[in-house]
Parts: sequence; structure tokens; C-alpha cells
Amino acid sequence: MATVETVTGTIDAEQLGTTLIHEHLIYRDEAVAIWWPHVGLVAPARPPRACGPEELRELAVGSARAVVERGGATICEPTGMFGGRDIQFSRGVSEETGLQVVPCTGIYTYEYLPMFFVTRDADAMADLFVHDIEQGIQGTEIKAAFLKCAADEPGVTENIEKVHRAVARASVRTGAPVMAHSRPASQTAYRQIEIFEEEGVDLSRVQIAHTGDTDDLDYIERVLDKGVYIGMDRYGLEIFLPIEKRNATVTALLERGYADRMFLSQDFCATLDWYPVEVADQLLAAGAAKDWSMTLVFDQVIPALREAGMTDDQLETMMVENPKRWLAG
Ligand SMILES: [Zn+2]
Repeated sequence: MATVETVTGTIDAEQLGTTLIHEHLIYRDEAVAIWWPHVGLVAPARPPRACGPEELRELAVGSARAVVERGGATICEPTGMFGGRDIQFSRGVSEETGLQVVPCTGIYTYEYLPMFFVTRDADAMADLFVHDIEQGIQGTEIKAAFLKCAADEPGVTENIEKVHRAVARASVRTGAPVMAHSRPASQTAYRQIEIFEEEGVDLSRVQIAHTGDTDDLDYIERVLDKGVYIGMDRYGLEIFLPIEKRNATVTALLERGYADRMFLSQDFCATLDWYPVEVADQLLAAGAAKDWSMTLVFDQVIPALREAGMTDDQLETMMVENPKRWLAG
């Protein structure tokens, strides 16, 4: 029987149910959080507000509950190194709300690596990822269910290639699936997939996150031709692509028969430390993240896609079947 690891233990893959493939219960720089734990994070709802450490859980629980109320059963939480993955925090939120949370291992960087990794090779890095998958995360018995890496504006530099090769090797060694943050604006997916191919990763277990940030169907189909999944996973982040264009792109891809290769999600962060409150306020006032929440897909996207012709079967495929196949094979 195929199983999947969650922060509250191993579950049968059939229990995943409706799954948001890319959501964060908390997102913050872990070094800043250790040095200055008194510094609050920002809740990215309008108006954004600073919230103290004690409110972080409250906000995460609020988002998790809202997902459960709409019939969501599971989120994948792709918080890699530098994003403040906190497995006990996620477990607490999961226990309190009943939302299943699928954790990951990996490194989220666009270029920087600590000296620890600069002086070690991709295999040494892969050993640590395998540790999280086979032994458990941060001294717990909670195991990582998937691997995370990222390429963004700087492209696939030497450091980024090392992370990708380490993720690939850990996937080959353990069978764990891969989620790769990508930047369609610089077409990073091509090189990312090339590295996974060179390392012998099963591309049917690879997900190119944030592909939905573009409506360039030629680019998207060239990515899909490799046999990977794509994340249409930043609904609400208008700064990258407005919701109407995201919906039009998903609709066009559904018409071309790609229901079995797409995920719908929001990349929402219940709290985030990327911007001071004033800047978050300006960004939101400018429409950068209109209606961004952990439930926008349920509240606005699914109704609009249905209106545009999406069938119940296609929805079930994207929200239930694809997560199951990506995670459990
Ligand atoms: Zn994310």
C-alpha cells in the first residue's frame, strides 16, 4: 500500500484527499528568527499588520481551519532551508485543526550557500536530505515526504546546480518526489529538468513549481513535454500574473488534455517576514496580492474554472489524484 509522510505520522495515500500542493504555515528567515526572536512577522492580509511571536500560531491555525472548512484535507508545506521550517510548529497546527501537513527537506536559495555546503559536495548535501527522509526531521520521527530546491533570477549558478544535484541524488536514493521552485520569466525550468534528467530522476515525480506565473503556452508545453508536473500554484500573487490570466492558462491547458499534470494552489504564507509592514501595505495597495489567502482556490478559482468549462473529473484529478501520484508514485 502506498503511504505518505505527514507531520502527524504516516498515512495511506488514499487519505490525502483534496490537497493544496504549495502552502506555508509560517515563512521567515531562520537566522533572523534565532538572533532576534522578538521581531514579529507580517500577516499579509489587508491591511497587513505586524504580529508578535505568540500570534504566529493563531494565524496559521486560522488559515488551516479555513482550508478544512472548505473541504481541504491536506497541504504540502514546501518550506526548505532558510524558510524557517519548524516541524513542531506545523505538527501543532495540524493537531489543532485536523489539516494534514506534508513536510519536505531541501534548500531554498537563489544563490547563497553557507560555508558548510560550499566546502562539501552534492553527495554530502544529499546525505542530509536522505537523513530527513529516512531518519526524521530535527530530532523527531517526522519524516520528509518530498525534496525542495529553487532557481530564480540569478539562474542555475554553480551553487544552485549543487543543490539540484543533491536533491536529484536524494530522490534517486529514496524515491522521494521533487518540487523545484522555478522562474518562468527566465525560463529556468529547462536547465533544472536537464539536471534532474542527467541524474536519473524519474521525471514523472518532478514538479516544476510556479509554472503558472506565465501564460506563455509554448514555454509551458515544452516543460510538460518532459513528463513533469507543473504548479499553477501562486493564485493571488497578482504581481507575477493576474488571476484572470492564470485561469485562462489553466483552462487552455485543460482543453489540451493536461489535467493530469497540473496542481492548483496559492503559495500563501500565513505569516511572512519578507517586508516591513509599510512596504507590505504599499504592495497590497498596488494590487500585488489581491485576495491572496490559503482558500482563494476554493473561493474564487474553482468557481471561475467551472464557469469556463472545467469538469468535476478534471478538478478531482488536479486536487486529489495528482497529489497522490506525485507523492506516492
Ligand atoms: Zn512557496
